[in-house]
Amino acid sequence: ARFRFLTCASAFAVSSGRRGRASASDSSACSAPGASGSGREGARLRCRATKAGGLAVEENVPLAGYCSFGIGGPARYFAKARTLEDVRDACRFVRAEGLRFMVVGKGSNLLFDDRGFDGFVLVNELSFLDGDIPQAFPNRAKTKGSGGDDDVVGRGGTSSEGTLRVRVGSGYPFNTLGQLLSSAGWGGLEFATGIPGTVGGAVFMNAGANGRETKESLVSVEYVTKGGESRELHVGGGGEEGGPKTRFGYRTSPFQSDEDFGAIVAATFELRADPEAKARARQYMQRRGASQPLKEKSAGCVFRNPSGCSPTNLSAGALIDRAGLKGATVGSAQVSCVHANYLVVASGNESSRPSRDMKDLIALVKKEIKQQTGVDLQEEIRIVPFQAEGME
Ligand SMILES: Cc1cc2nc3c(=O)[nH]c(=O)nc-3n(C[C@H](O)[C@H](O)[C@H](O)COP(=O)(O)OP(=O)(O)OC[C@H]3O[C@@H](n4cnc5c(N)ncnc54)[C@H](O)[C@@H]3O)c2cc1C
Repeated sequence: ARFRFLTCASAFAVSSGRRGRASASDSSACSAPGASGSGREGARLRCRATKAGGLAVEENVPLAGYCSFGIGGPARYFAKARTLEDVRDACRFVRAEGLRFMVVGKGSNLLFDDRGFDGFVLVNELSFLDGDIPQAFPNRAKTKGSGGDDDVVGRGGTSSEGTLRVRVGSGYPFNTLGQLLSSAGWGGLEFATGIPGTVGGAVFMNAGANGRETKESLVSVEYVTKGGESRELHVGGGGEEGGPKTRFGYRTSPFQSDEDFGAIVAATFELRADPEAKARARQYMQRRGASQPLKEKSAGCVFRNPSGCSPTNLSAGALIDRAGLKGATVGSAQVSCVHANYLVVASGNESSRPSRDMKDLIALVKKEIKQQTGVDLQEEIRIVPFQAEGME
């Protein structure tokens, strides 16, 4: 592949290093939202449906429509879970067939392979929310003459401790949860506004922003094992430290290293009444709008920020920006000109191997940063291999 470094102000003309072969994502005849391509091989591939208990399982479903990059070939087996029993059925099927298994939320932190996934993909749609969300300040009055929404002078109606516990399905949109809670005056998940994943994805990744993380408000997580058995992890109340909470780290959770883990099905959060919550959430959204390429296809920040012991003390985005890599392009993959830690699918740059392009761009960025600064950047996004390690 031939790469060229150009500034964002320049015109781009970069070779994609195509190998002249169609990718699996071009070849499936299945349809999925956002999926594109129907090459010649497509006519030969068909979405066959089968049953796993009560769960409808399809074959060869393109994954491009199930992730925010819009990239990915077909999943060998594919189903959508709307109930706990669906999840259990999927686990049993996977175990009986000896398949690789992965749960997908909104796919906003994933890079699938051009050839797809040689296993079972379960898209999580367990999107219930237990009960209503009450107003934290139902008797609030506005300061005379101010007219401001956020001027709270009276409190009332909340529990005596001023806290609220909310149990929510793991497929519930994290962004919506943050918005609903902060609008009702509950603080703790304001940072979730603008994070386009599910609650399950946020717990699994310990998603965070603006100095806050998911674990901080997490009370407990209900999940199933690979064998379909129900389990619960008690994490602790809002603000508590120690115990299981310490097993959550920067974009990591204990589930990532649990060999027996199957899927998160629900989570309970504890929020506190906070008259500033709504304004804070609004401010976070405005900041995102101004600093992130929200209209482009991405998976958010691709690289973790280097740890405090990094020689530069700069964020990953700042390192990439200073290295002059904004706008660097490989095929259809490009370092965003708006936020250097966002790698985006460049509109108009068609490629038959967009996942390969993205991986090549990731490798290019890592190499440049290592050479220029000595820092080893690590991926925050999860790169999903087509086959298990050692099989390719
Ligand atoms: C525009 C944009 C902005 C973003 N901003 C942020 C940000 O500010 N902070 C941040 O932390 N992230 C951010 N992200 C990344 C992403 O939204 C988060 O990591 C999010 O939590 C992922 O949720 P998801 O449902 O999309 O998970 P997916 O991408 O579908 O999955 C991610 C991982 O979680 C696992 N997983 C998901 N759900 C379950 C489940 N129910 N059970 C078991 N495993 C599960 C998957 O198997 C996978 O390994 C951003 C992404 C985009 C596109």
